Amino acid sequence: MKPLQVSEIEYVDVVVIGGGIAGVAIAEFLSRHSNLSIKLLEKAPQLGNLASGKLEGWYHTGALYSGQDDAQTFINCVNGVEDLINLYTPYFKEQCNVSLKEKETNFFSPAIIPNPKGWFNDAPVYLIHPQEDAPEIRSSRLKSDSIQINIQRNRVLGRLEAAYGRQHNWLVNNQCLAPTYKQVENYEGLNCSLKNPTETLQKLCHQFDLSYDIETANYDLIKTLDCSMHTSNILKDLVASCLSHGVTFETGVKIDKLLIDSYGKIRIKSLLCETQECRSKRLKANLFIFAVGEGFEPFLKELQVRAKLKRSRSAMVVAYPALVDTNFVRMSTKNRFHFNHFVQQRELGDEKYIYSLLADSGYANDDSIHGVDIEPILESAERYFGKEKLYSRQLYSYECVKTEFISQEEQKRRYSYWIESDNDSNYLCVLPGKFSFFPTVAYQAYQRIKTLIDFEESQPKLPFQSNLNLEKQANQLVADSYPMQIFLAN
Ligand SMILES: Cc1cc2nc3c(=O)[nH]c(=O)nc-3n(C[C@H](O)[C@H](O)[C@H](O)COP(=O)(O)OP(=O)(O)OC[C@H]3O[C@@H](n4cnc5c(N)ncnc54)[C@H](O)[C@@H]3O)c2cc1C
Repeated sequence: MKPLQVSEIEYVDVVVIGGGIAGVAIAEFLSRHSNLSIKLLEKAPQLGNLASGKLEGWYHTGALYSGQDDAQTFINCVNGVEDLINLYTPYFKEQCNVSLKEKETNFFSPAIIPNPKGWFNDAPVYLIHPQEDAPEIRSSRLKSDSIQINIQRNRVLGRLEAAYGRQHNWLVNNQCLAPTYKQVENYEGLNCSLKNPTETLQKLCHQFDLSYDIETANYDLIKTLDCSMHTSNILKDLVASCLSHGVTFETGVKIDKLLIDSYGKIRIKSLLCETQECRSKRLKANLFIFAVGEGFEPFLKELQVRAKLKRSRSAMVVAYPALVDTNFVRMSTKNRFHFNHFVQQRELGDEKYIYSLLADSGYANDDSIHGVDIEPILESAERYFGKEKLYSRQLYSYECVKTEFISQEEQKRRYSYWIESDNDSNYLCVLPGKFSFFPTVAYQAYQRIKTLIDFEESQPKLPFQSNLNLEKQANQLVADSYPMQIFLAN
């Protein structure tokens, strides 16, 4: 006799597909502000195992984008800081350690509050901006290169000063309020109070210049609000909050099919999947949220969403122990001269891992048969730290897929996150360009959800209180960051 083919049928208000930062942050924010029943499905055995676990952990507050032609991505980052402080700091009181700080009497700016258990490390990222006498300009015969570098330098200094220097008071009517696009565009003639040369940085720049046989070039060394973040802790705390609000998680799930009603506007009737225990399940819901990162292709086809996504691969080099204790980013008008060094720290039992993450702006198309070339990263690292120091470290490299949304419209091309839904449909597609945008992505997705389904909003009054049970469950659900997985496997 054939075994019975049984399929379990389950109904929840909202199904979230994908357990990276996007899916987790949306589930968390929605569960915190409603009484909806929410289920998150993840195909891997653990959450946060792809892009959200492999990244460098750079918390972007705009420095990287401050030199671009228009200020859209910069202002998106600045707004992200506002969202973090208004929507997360009061609720994750013990964990979210970014807050407004009184710099001068009655003048407030965002700052990282030192807290070893906090999401953000208080060591800042220094931005190294070259001037006309930098190696890449001296070796160029084009006059336009030196003009270009000065334009970029003025934008960087002006925009950073306008947002984080002495120009904008972020405390307005007891709320955190970021500067406007117009305010950060108004950069001409500003002196940048954020310049902060340190001995370590000067030494690194000097070593770099010498590697090009240049005695010393001039650089602007700027202390930014950017820092490194504990991405797996952020994911774990968001998951713990989800659990405390009754969100259920299923990992190791294979989605077999979407049953679609394509009469009129496309609506998903059910989602058929196979659970980790090889049981077949039919999930019905009021709303389906896709936050599947590199896994969007098949769903977009089925949902007939005509978005263009681009997949590329980037590489990262891990050096253990850390090469220096300073985070820095070297800007340039030439890609080859981009380089960043981040320090990350993790404790595992009695063991403390302090390691460097090195990256540049190199990438390979996803269909390329060759891997990403990591030689430029190693070459830059040799120039900054010297061969001997670099190769005395345990070094590893790995690749990570980057999925970006591409639109014809210029403003969208400078996207920071993509949220797409159709009125009268019952699904939402979400793709953040950066982990750092999770507060904005969660909030904006929430606003969109309100237009798609009816529910009663609730405001949590008390800050989140974790407990051992929640922590244990969250620890089991969320993967360690990728470098930690490498250390443990070696
Ligand atoms: C090399 C590199 C470095 C980066 N560095 C930084 C940085 O320093 N700072 C920063 O802010 N951002 C950084 N980013 C960007 C950041 O990593 C991503 O924007 C962010 O992690 C994307 O989150 P996500 O949730 O959309 O995707 P993911 O983290 O990839 O999550 C998607 C999840 O969906 C799951 N999934 C896929 N298909 C299915 C399916 N069919 N069913 C169920 N589940 C499914 C996947 O398993 C995965 O867990 C970096 C990206 C790259 C590539």
